[in-house]
Amino acid sequence: MKKALGLFSGGLDSILAAKLIQEQGVKVELINFYTPFFPPKNAIKISKQLKLKLKKIDITKDYIKMLRNPKHGYGSEMNPCIDCKILMLKEAKKYAKKINAKFIFTGEVLGERPMSQNKKALKLIEMENGLKRKLLRPLSSKLLPITEAEKKWVNRSRLLNIIGRRRDKQMKLAKKFKIKKYPYPSGGCLLTYKEYAKKIRDLLKNKKRVTRRDLELLKLGRHFRFKNNKIIVGRNKEENKKLLELKQKTDYIFEVPNIGSPTTILQGPKTKKAIEIAAQLTARYSDAKRKTKVKYGRKLKRKLIVISIKEREIKKLRI
Ligand code: SF4
Repeated sequence: MKKALGLFSGGLDSILAAKLIQEQGVKVELINFYTPFFPPKNAIKISKQLKLKLKKIDITKDYIKMLRNPKHGYGSEMNPCIDCKILMLKEAKKYAKKINAKFIFTGEVLGERPMSQNKKALKLIEMENGLKRKLLRPLSSKLLPITEAEKKWVNRSRLLNIIGRRRDKQMKLAKKFKIKKYPYPSGGCLLTYKEYAKKIRDLLKNKKRVTRRDLELLKLGRHFRFKNNKIIVGRNKEENKKLLELKQKTDYIFEVPNIGSPTTILQGPKTKKAIEIAAQLTARYSDAKRKTKVKYGRKLKRKLIVISIKEREIKKLRI
């Protein structure tokens, strides 16, 4: 039986693309690329429901390199959608060869996303990977040039002509395929969120070697920058716990003893001023009155009396 490989996020478009190809008697395998910006959770869950084999590949390392200077720029925030797709397809192409898949397909819909799903971008994504006319987009195929897959393995007339951002056709199709639950579109990629984008910009600017841990930390707490220091203040018990798990040996932690207090992490040089600011921020988000004792250090063994930081200072430091 002929086989095809589908890029799979777990979102409705990628589910429908897989169904449309399966419907034509092609064996479908799926591939998901993940990073801390877009985790594989949905893809794993939905592929199980669909009973389709899923290969997961962590592309974090290459992704960070690309994210510093994407050849085709960013979208509305820090989302380098065109380069992201190019990177994923480059890897998908290698894997397709390995499993002997005849062609690759995606759930892309013409005109659904302004940056990466207009005709020019779709063509560019193919060209940069040597996949000209070799990449099938079943949801919009009839609006795009005919591909090798349609000449040899699937019937173009049974593929679709969806265009634009409205989702009604996809919803109808979901009903036809009896797909009841699927994740909301656009819920997936943190790089499209304004607040997260600010933090990732700051991180890339201030750190040469960004790790997975750095990226996980961006999802937690309030973030502040003071010169070469990064200060992260937990917002609730759960975040405090996670911050402690993610802290490195060289980081200092801060807490106000005996009352409700955030856990704060101080990264970077432990100068007197940096310690004072981290302690003042901890005091500000604790239940303490203006002046309080703050414990700090690698193991909270030192202490400092501080007055909580003023709002205008917070504004200057906040990332
Ligand atoms: S939204 Fe995020 S995951 Fe999707 S193409 Fe853009 S950068 Fe890649």
